[in-house]
Amino acid sequence: MSTTQESPITLLDPTSPPRPAPGCDVCAALEKQRAGYERRENTRQATDCEVEMRNHPKHSGSTS
Ligand SMILES: [Zn+2]
Repeated sequence: MSTTQESPITLLDPTSPPRPAPGCDVCAALEKQRAGYERRENTRQATDCEVEMRNHPKHSGSTS
């Protein structure tokens, strides 16, 4: 049996940057950094900040 199931790939959507979580200093700092990088057209670094913001473990949505 060979059922090929395509696993959904979660791609980062560059058109919708993540929003910093309210009250989170880390996210706020990341958002500031991101804006700075974007202004300098440093897309790669800006994306890094977005990823970090999305993956910030303190409020990733998991209930623990
Ligand atoms: Zn955060």
